Amino acid sequence: MQLNFIANTAQPSASGQTIAVIDPSDGQPFDAIQRSNAADMDAAVRAARHCFDSSWQKFSAAERGKLLMRLSQRVAQGVDELTLLEQRDCGKPTRQARADALALARYFEFYAGACDKLHGDTIPYMDGYSVLTWREPHGVTGHVIPWNYPMQIFGRSVGGALAAGNACVVKPAEDACLSLIRVAQMAAEVGFPAGAINIVTGYGHEVGDALAHHPGIDHISFTGSPAVGTLIAQVAAERHCPVTLELGGKSPQIVFADADLDAALPAIVNAIVQNAGQTCSAGSRLLVEQSIYEALLVRLGALFEALKAGPASLDLDLGPLIRQSQQQRVWDFLSDAQAANIPMVAQGQVVDAAPETGFYQAPTLLRDVPVTHRLAQQEIFGPVLCVMAFRDEDHAVELANATRFGLVAGVWTNDGARQFRMARRVHSGQVFINNYGAGGGVELPFGGVKSSGYGREKGLEALHSFTTLKTVAFRHG
Ligand code: NAP
Ligand code: MG
Repeated sequence: MQLNFIANTAQPSASGQTIAVIDPSDGQPFDAIQRSNAADMDAAVRAARHCFDSSWQKFSAAERGKLLMRLSQRVAQGVDELTLLEQRDCGKPTRQARADALALARYFEFYAGACDKLHGDTIPYMDGYSVLTWREPHGVTGHVIPWNYPMQIFGRSVGGALAAGNACVVKPAEDACLSLIRVAQMAAEVGFPAGAINIVTGYGHEVGDALAHHPGIDHISFTGSPAVGTLIAQVAAERHCPVTLELGGKSPQIVFADADLDAALPAIVNAIVQNAGQTCSAGSRLLVEQSIYEALLVRLGALFEALKAGPASLDLDLGPLIRQSQQQRVWDFLSDAQAANIPMVAQGQVVDAAPETGFYQAPTLLRDVPVTHRLAQQEIFGPVLCVMAFRDEDHAVELANATRFGLVAGVWTNDGARQFRMARRVHSGQVFINNYGAGGGVELPFGGVKSSGYGREKGLEALHSFTTLKTVAFRHG
């Protein structure tokens, strides 16, 4: 049984109610988390405020950096334990769960080094005046985390907020709490003061909503769906609380006839298969220049047919989806494809060892998907790749920009001038040329435009959202 983690102590929820934790690989419960409510959220916010006022804001930037570095090392030491927890809780194949734990350690390392490099400015002004700016923490920051990459999103969001000097209250998704509770315990072990990191579990519409409404939260970092992002931004607007929104995407991979397909194809497959397609930056639309369309589909079809889905512990190409309702969502999209006569080029397999009760979906390749169809417009959040052809560069740009999202775009071409033109013309927060998110990019600012959200996390840029700028003007004659 898992408890909340408030002020460095394990605490049961005020309601005494719990929620079962399900292993997506077999659909069976194996643990329980607290079903918290507004009273628990209030306790966490008070703990964070007390920590900020009484101790955390007195830490120097260098001291915060040292603590974050110790936490990075502790997480790195505990990678095997965190990998197993995540594998069971979220159905991630071992290598993917491990990559998340290592990324978490890397986020803390990056932000450890960043703490004492966050400078203000001095600004030339009128004669007899000196003006400078300070970057001050907000105070208590709230973090609503989704289930698809709990450790990575915790790393980039809470890591950045702590580096900037905030105390944090975290609401993980109810499907993915275990690794984050463990990481908060590790933070206490390495010396974070009580209240610097608080974890309150439960349902989004209950305790997530309580976080959004709480007047003691000074900034909200939300990662999740556009619909819930809108709700949170509306609630926060009532009390003028700033919000960073990291929402979804329908990201295009754009392949020109001159592209190096040996490099492009494995990256295209990985971008839709990683985490069973449940990735905000999944490359879920493939736009291919007409002259190579058929030949590319033959090669890609063969790669899809070789893909295997199965229990997380077998460490195959993909594990199960997170829960039954997510599996049903993907099935609904696929039956719409069938009803619209959208041709299926290829499908991978679910291995025989996969229990019937697990939430599996074979990777699926669909071609000639009309740009206006919901398959080409909405997030499926499963291992389904929608392919369409384009005539020329203008047509590629038109198709790439034809959704309400704008998170990531991949462009595959060896024409240098076209690389620049495409990077300029595609509406998205990130553009990858001849790669797709290689290396994880802890150092690289990340976020969206349009319905993919606003504000940036990751990199040094995140520290700007997690601070507020104070301008101080002196008249000294
Ligand atoms: P979600 O339903 O929006 O949930 C996200 C988080 O919000 C969860 O912790 C959820 O809690 C909580 N929540 C739900 N209702 C709430 C409410 N009324 N008030 C406050 N919090 C509430 O999304 P999801 O199903 O977890 O994740 C999938 C979506 O997230 C996809 O659209 C994906 O693209 C997007 N995503 C974006 C990024 C990015 O960086 N841009 C990264 C990852 C995911 P419960 O789950 O416990 O109810
Ligand atoms: Mg789970």
